[in-house]
Amino acid sequence: MNKFEVKAFGTPAKDADLKPMNIERREVTAKDIEIEILYCGVCHSDLHTARNDWGGTIYPAVPGHEIVGRVVKIGSEVTKLKVGDYAGVGCLVDSCRECNSCKQDLEQYCLNGFTGTYNGKEKYLGTQTFGGYSEKIVVDEHFVLKVPSNLKLSAVAPLLCAGITTWSPLRHWNVGINSKVAVVGLGGLGHMAIKLAKGLGAHVTLFSRTPGKINDGLELGADEVIISTDKIQMNSVRGKFDLIIDTVPYIHDLNPYVNTLNVSGTLVVVGYLGGLEPLLNTVPMILGRKSVAGSLIGGIAETQEMLDFCGEKNIVSEVEVIKIQDINIAYERMLKSDVHYRFVIDMNSLK
Ligand code: NAP
Ligand code: ZN
Ligand code: ZN
Repeated sequence: MNKFEVKAFGTPAKDADLKPMNIERREVTAKDIEIEILYCGVCHSDLHTARNDWGGTIYPAVPGHEIVGRVVKIGSEVTKLKVGDYAGVGCLVDSCRECNSCKQDLEQYCLNGFTGTYNGKEKYLGTQTFGGYSEKIVVDEHFVLKVPSNLKLSAVAPLLCAGITTWSPLRHWNVGINSKVAVVGLGGLGHMAIKLAKGLGAHVTLFSRTPGKINDGLELGADEVIISTDKIQMNSVRGKFDLIIDTVPYIHDLNPYVNTLNVSGTLVVVGYLGGLEPLLNTVPMILGRKSVAGSLIGGIAETQEMLDFCGEKNIVSEVEVIKIQDINIAYERMLKSDVHYRFVIDMNSLK
């Protein structure tokens, strides 16, 4: 397999800062698209992976799965895009395409395991996959998205993960006009959840721990903001919501949020992976036919649907554009919830 070197920014170990490094990309095969990366969003999952929070990180690790760029080369059988077009790549770069999930456009739930944009298995080179904190990426056209031409590119990048991760549950649970939706946590995912739920016509409530974010929440489109540490405010929304999207990245008590679900409502966890503490009390779930669920990003067709919707409704992320050299500072700020509301790397800074 022919390959070439590109510049990247990654981490050699769990407790090391990210730094410049060179990585290899495969030469385009017949179905591949080579993309020069222009912007890459910074997702909290990048930080979890760089620091091995979930275990299983293969080093060196190059994060980044909110990629927008320009097509610079295409394989002989590519039909989706042509050289010069803008393109997007999210969290998936491959899957088996034969299993039941893949056949239903649910590549993220591939029964044979999807290939993540980073820390997956590069089947041609036999290495780990490397993400978007790099000059270029080579991806099978099936996993490349078309980017709406009317939106600001830097602000489109976060749609590729934060956007689709919140869009998918909104669609799966049929959110529309008159739905009552709540979002837990105002960060990258949270701010996109508010915008997309509003775009679908829902009434939207933000739960935040941070009183300093009340005005931002309202400006982003929330109809109300509830400070989650205030019991009186939490009681005021008991039994209210059809759907709650919980984006908090670390272990936390879900029980107070279950109490705010309406009969037959669902709390969908997208942020935290792992066991729960304190234990989840089933009494309110049984007495109100309430569900606690999880959801992982979204399939490729659904991601395109979300991008097209954002194009129509002029929905983009609120971004703070940074240079790649500032990524370690950005991670520290992310840990302090000091993000307004997504860092996006201008990949020109890597040159
Ligand atoms: P983020 O920008 O850092 O936002 C997380 C928000 O959660 C914070 O702004 C904060 O909002 C709230 N929060 C509550 N407790 C916190 C704590 N102890 N530390 C930090 N924040 C806390 O993160 P993100 O990029 O939106 O990602 C959120 C989570 O979703 C991450 O764990 C990420 O790995 C995961 N994720 C999952 C999927 C999926 O497919 N399921 C996809 C992408 C990302 P307030 O200040 O308003 O409380
Ligand atoms: Zn992500
Ligand atoms: Zn599959």
